[in-house]
Amino acid sequence: MILETFPVGVLQCNCTLLGDEATGEAMVIDPGDNVSYILERLAAHKLKLKQIVVTHGHIDHVGGALRLKRATGAPILMNENDLSLLKMMPMQAARLGVATPEVAPPDENARENLVVGVGSHMAKVLHTPGHTQGSICLHFAPEKLLFAGDTLFAGSIGRTDLPGGNGKLILRSIHERLMPLPDETRVIPGHGEETTIGEERESNPFLI
Ligand SMILES: [Zn+2]
Repeated sequence: MILETFPVGVLQCNCTLLGDEATGEAMVIDPGDNVSYILERLAAHKLKLKQIVVTHGHIDHVGGALRLKRATGAPILMNENDLSLLKMMPMQAARLGVATPEVAPPDENARENLVVGVGSHMAKVLHTPGHTQGSICLHFAPEKLLFAGDTLFAGSIGRTDLPGGNGKLILRSIHERLMPLPDETRVIPGHGEETTIGEERESNPFLI
């Protein structure tokens, strides 16, 4: 498996390129910005982009998705509970002080239990509302790998004071959907350093 995570945009959203050597196919998770760099990395690995998965409808995660789709033809998957956030893109951009990126509804609804991925690397979509109504995590069970979006961070959890946020719901999502995963599960959050489920279960102050 080819796995590269790098921060993009002013909020330094973790964008991930995940590729399968056997098929030469790749998926990109959360292309918030820096689309030309993402395209460079795909080319460097000689990978063909098959899928764009967005963990939620915040500008720093979805801002580059349509440009990446236009450059590669890959479909965009996002949970449709965040469609209203796409409509609020001008407001999201104004809050950040950046130009409003063009966005479009996803090609497919990344609903609970949907299977996403490339080649032999397949993940299940976990619908984990709270940070936003349509927040999802991606769980690659055999790889013991979780992409947590802005639901769970190393030592913290996602903010719930933005439109669609719900403090009770994010805790329920984390306790019911993420904490049952094996301790050794590697967690790549939407921002900041990676962690593990075991580490967060033991020491995350928001989960005690
Ligand atoms: Zn967010």
